[in-house]
Amino acid sequence: MKRQKIRKLLLTVSLLFFPVTLYYFSPALIIDAGLSGIINGSFIVFVSMFLLAIPFGRLFCAYVCPAGGLQECAFTINSNKPKQGWKNNIKYVIWAFWVLMVVLCYFNSGKIVKIDFWFNTENGISVSSIQSYIIYYGIVFLIFIPSILFGKRIFCHYFCWMAPFMVLGTKIRRFLHLPGLHIQINNGSTCVSCEKCSNNCPMGLNVSGMINNNQIEDLECIQCGACVDSCPRKIFSYKVVPEKGKK
Ligand code: SF4
Ligand code: SF4
Ligand code: SF4
Repeated sequence: MKRQKIRKLLLTVSLLFFPVTLYYFSPALIIDAGLSGIINGSFIVFVSMFLLAIPFGRLFCAYVCPAGGLQECAFTINSNKPKQGWKNNIKYVIWAFWVLMVVLCYFNSGKIVKIDFWFNTENGISVSSIQSYIIYYGIVFLIFIPSILFGKRIFCHYFCWMAPFMVLGTKIRRFLHLPGLHIQINNGSTCVSCEKCSNNCPMGLNVSGMINNNQIEDLECIQCGACVDSCPRKIFSYKVVPEKGKK
């Protein structure tokens, strides 16, 4: 469980720095930058998310993302498991329209004039004015309230514009059969149906229902390791092996 304490500590620290880092995850600022032909911080962050997901999957969501930390704060109020299904696809629709808009903005600007990682921040700090505080708290409520109303990490499942970058990276890894981080399943037949894995999964996945596979293949899995650490039968383990998934 030590690993989960470290994971939660990292998410908490990331959440504390959210007023500083907010604009580096902004879907709006990249549009502003695109219209001026500037490669900004969020552009670099989104590309990095995609590239890092090829070897590491969605580890960012489990250990780094402030919005993930924010939603896990709501677990004490509502730890219901959100329904998995077609609603998970909402984020891909949002992402596709948004990416198209970003591409059109850069295309419209004609050329890339410069790289400015700190674009539209005050000495690199995102929240530095009354106006940016309003934006900050708007986003905090947008992420936090749905988790309170509907359960575990609902924003991640349904609305996040960043998750598709990491899912795309994971899919490319699978398509090319590249090595990468997995949650391996060993001896699923020794399961005692205690449901600790499913109950501890921060994404609210039905983990015990996946033990007949070789590995967890659900694209909503963020490789947090909570199932690895909570299973009394040690059925799950982290492994770096060539991808065998089909999705
Ligand atoms: S899905 Fe989005 S909001 Fe959730 S942890 Fe990942 S990047 Fe953050
Ligand atoms: S399936 Fe396991 S590793 Fe994946 S999100 Fe759930 S608890 Fe974390
Ligand atoms: S925690 Fe392990 S033993 Fe318990 S239900 Fe999950 S896989 Fe089975």
